[in-house]
Amino acid sequence: MNAEFFCSRCRTPFLSSAPLDRDGVCDRCRSGLAGYDSAYSFGYYEGTLRTLIHHFKYAKIEPLGQPLGRLLLRAMPENLEVDMIVPVPLHWLRRLWRGFLSRPGMVEGKRVLLLDDVLTTGATVTTCSALLRQGGALSVTVLTLARVDRRPMVGNAVLTAASAAGGGAK
Ligand SMILES: [Zn+2]
Repeated sequence: MNAEFFCSRCRTPFLSSAPLDRDGVCDRCRSGLAGYDSAYSFGYYEGTLRTLIHHFKYAKIEPLGQPLGRLLLRAMPENLEVDMIVPVPLHWLRRLWRGFLSRPGMVEGKRVLLLDDVLTTGATVTTCSALLRQGGALSVTVLTLARVDRRPMVGNAVLTAASAAGGGAK
């Protein structure tokens, strides 16, 4: 990702360094509101990546699953150590709930990696993180294929760059 200013924990991009403290951490992470320890994404939810994810999810093009999985792996830091991988989609969340009830201590002391396709507001992963923390998880790291760039005007800048280059991307 090419953001010039981003939180060192959740990697949320910002237009300037103003929202970040001396350690490069944003307000939300500093206050613990994000719920997770760090978040990584392969890229922004736009262009080709957005099209691929969309086809995989809604058109159910199964063969896309493997290449998308490989992109997900590439977004993961090499030195990251995890004990448990939990996919975020809702039916898994429900299963997780049931798991906690039937098997308390399932995530206790575990370093958990939460997987999702797109990080938008982060509300879902924040909910999951809170759940995992309640269950005694040692740390929660979020790994997504794409994140939505919520900075104002960035979309226009990207469009301009794309059209200047002859406009391959929409
Ligand atoms: Zn942050």
